[in-house]
Amino acid sequence: MSHPYAQTGLPTALPYTDEHAIFRSSARRFFETEVAPKQAEWEEAHLTPRSIWKRAGELGFLCPRLPEQYGGAGADFLHAVILAEEQVRSGAIAPMYTLQSDVVAPYLLQYGTEEQKQRYLPAMASGDCIASIGMTEPSAGSDLQGIRTTAKRTKDGYAINGQKTFISNGINADLVVLAAKTDAAAGARGVSLFLVDTATRGFSRGRNLKKLGQHAADTAELFFDDMRVPEEALLGGIEGRGFPQLMDRLVEERLMTGVVSVAMIDRALALTIQYVKDRKAFGQRVLDFQNTRFTLAEAKTEAAVLHAFLEQCILDFMAGTLDPATSAMLKYWSTEQQNAIVDDCLQLHGGYGYILDYPIAKMWADGRISKIYGGANEIMKDIIGRTLGGRTR
Ligand SMILES: Cc1cc2nc3c(=O)[nH]c(=O)nc-3n(C[C@H](O)[C@H](O)[C@H](O)COP(=O)(O)OP(=O)(O)OC[C@H]3O[C@@H](n4cnc5c(N)ncnc54)[C@H](O)[C@@H]3O)c2cc1C
Repeated sequence: MSHPYAQTGLPTALPYTDEHAIFRSSARRFFETEVAPKQAEWEEAHLTPRSIWKRAGELGFLCPRLPEQYGGAGADFLHAVILAEEQVRSGAIAPMYTLQSDVVAPYLLQYGTEEQKQRYLPAMASGDCIASIGMTEPSAGSDLQGIRTTAKRTKDGYAINGQKTFISNGINADLVVLAAKTDAAAGARGVSLFLVDTATRGFSRGRNLKKLGQHAADTAELFFDDMRVPEEALLGGIEGRGFPQLMDRLVEERLMTGVVSVAMIDRALALTIQYVKDRKAFGQRVLDFQNTRFTLAEAKTEAAVLHAFLEQCILDFMAGTLDPATSAMLKYWSTEQQNAIVDDCLQLHGGYGYILDYPIAKMWADGRISKIYGGANEIMKDIIGRTLGGRTR
């Protein structure tokens, strides 16, 4: 049975089965009925309630790819794609489920000790533990080697001091996968990752930052003041592995950014095609202006091209062969196109496109960050550029 894309009806080469189709329809129901209608309330609060994390856990929509022994369903990557696509399709920007399921959980699964996996993964899958990743600091974002947070050895563990900013899920987080320097003199080799429980003394949260978009998602400053953690908090139990661990995991994060960006393009197109069919100007539908048709034809073509590239990246990832440069190309190009197409779609809405009652206005504001987070697009180009020969840094 072939399963076309949810939003475009385009044929797909991805190996979807009937089970994926059932999973998609229950995910769609969840996002449409339980998540999207609450966005306005959560935007006011700048936070999602813990109950909606628990609910996603109950329904099997958190960390479904984890093996059953850690609370998951042993699902394949296409389940992650479906969840991200359906969340975007519903217009619900929060909660940041993919951060939990597709960014943080894989760190533990891939690098954690058995004790670390048992301690956190089942709770992440049930929604009892909300997780975040703490890399960025006020003075170090793109240049992660420049982080200043330190983890100094004590008699029985580490003392952590420093500060993080822009941390998604930061207000809700029970667990932070924290990047800190265990050896300040060793550059990239001196960075380690820690599993930090936010109930520990010495941890505090700063502001829930007010953002241009994504208002329902919490993004916070975090502070660590002589926070004592046991040796067992070091991810994988070996110091100095943080940087390669981060670099390795970023491939999947960039792929998921691509999935979300392409889904945003599909949604923007669907909304705009409907709008220009309904809206009249100069005695005709806005769709009947050649400019409108050309703009949307260009966007539809770009969407089809991007779908083909995204599919190839997904297939490569599932085969274990997606490389950092190709994932950087996907992240760079999909987010550039998402922003350009959403902007064109907003233009075709006229003044209504600037009014937040219209979803295209929110998409414009919510989507802008995609060119910056998960590695700024300039960094993506740098990664791609390094494959051209010459500089190898
Ligand atoms: C809403 C939101 C959520 C976020 N979530 C998280 C999170 O959960 N965890 C986390 O750790 N971080 C998170 N971040 C941080 C995000 O990853 C960083 O903002 C991003 O990596 C860029 O770092 P910076 O802001 O320090 O910018 P800088 O590093 O100061 O860069 C500024 C600009 O300089 C240019 N630039 C920098 N370096 C180069 C270069 N080598 N070559 C060319 N140009 C360059 C780029 O144009 C870049 O955009 C989030 C940020 C936001 C806004």
